[in-house]
Amino acid sequence: MTLPTRAGLDAVPAYRQGRSAPAGASKVSSNESPHPPLPSVVEAVQQRLATIHRYPDMSAAALRERLAERYGVEPAAVTVGAGSVEIASQLIHAVAGEGDEVMFAWRSFEAYPSLVRIAGATPVAVPLNAEHAHDLDAMLAAITPRTRLIFVCNPNNPTGTVVGAAELEAFVAAVPRDVLVVIDEAYVHFDRTGSHGAGVELFHRYPHVAVLHTFSKAYGLAGLRIGYALSPLAVADSQRKVAVPFGVTDLAQVGALASLDAEDELAVRIDEVVAHRDRLCALLVDAGWPAVTSQANFVWVPAGDRTDELESLLNEGGVITRVFAGEGIRISSGSMEDIDRVQSALQAETALQEARA
Ligand SMILES: *Cc1c(COP(=O)(O)O)cnc(C)c1O
Repeated sequence: MTLPTRAGLDAVPAYRQGRSAPAGASKVSSNESPHPPLPSVVEAVQQRLATIHRYPDMSAAALRERLAERYGVEPAAVTVGAGSVEIASQLIHAVAGEGDEVMFAWRSFEAYPSLVRIAGATPVAVPLNAEHAHDLDAMLAAITPRTRLIFVCNPNNPTGTVVGAAELEAFVAAVPRDVLVVIDEAYVHFDRTGSHGAGVELFHRYPHVAVLHTFSKAYGLAGLRIGYALSPLAVADSQRKVAVPFGVTDLAQVGALASLDAEDELAVRIDEVVAHRDRLCALLVDAGWPAVTSQANFVWVPAGDRTDELESLLNEGGVITRVFAGEGIRISSGSMEDIDRVQSALQAETALQEARA
């Protein structure tokens, strides 16, 4: 006899991690930083290894105070989690349960639908528009009396598109005040449009906005697992109730603080990632692939029927990407070497086609 599991879990898709790469291949499947951690961050974390027999500060007081000061908010409005994906989960559990709806654009961050179902709530996925961007009018039209939370992933994963600051504000202003708008800014550091920082600005001006940030992408700490949110105080209090106790380690807290001390150094790396992303996008377009202009650290290629073809030619060139069967491929910016490999793979294909013609 098999043990019964919770009703409804069959509807929860398992989270798929970006494929690991064989030795020597380029792993550009998980939007990680191509750089190893900064020496100052490694040193700070190493020093704290001596005290890992102790529990961490569950309130992450030092980090929360630091972030509160930076954004001009009360420390109580700052919550931390084991990656911002855990905070997304806290936010859903804090405001939605059985019978409630949680809305997001689709395609967007893969974790949203699963997290919503795990909380027992109902996911409402509103298709992106023809430009692969949020269709905010359609999202407004999809609000019902049961809607409790709306995610706006900005820039959007996996398409890299951005909702402009003015458009985002018009949306937030039109959403009823008893619906929480969560602006997920995991990739905000790579946004070179004027809407950079729009989420925090709206958090200050509206009572029903939360902003999600992570140390995993621009700060290069994906393996340490730490992210944070700015939330309305009542929501933040509820998040602390639903969070798994001690989910954020001391090493993660220290690593995050050391990263905030090293932002000038990180800014140089971020500029490099942005330059790589633009180069990657341009070479895909030059090779005739429908790459979408991106404001994140990856490029979306909605190859549709040709997704398999693109995947295999990249794989043959030693490049491991994130594949959405029949829809497209997401390629993280990667290092110069990673992009050279993409270029060679695409050129090999072009040469083959020319030989056939
Ligand atoms: C990567 C990502 C996150 C957060 O990842 P963590 O490692 O859990 O902080 C959050 N939202 C989106 C859209 C992402 O792509």
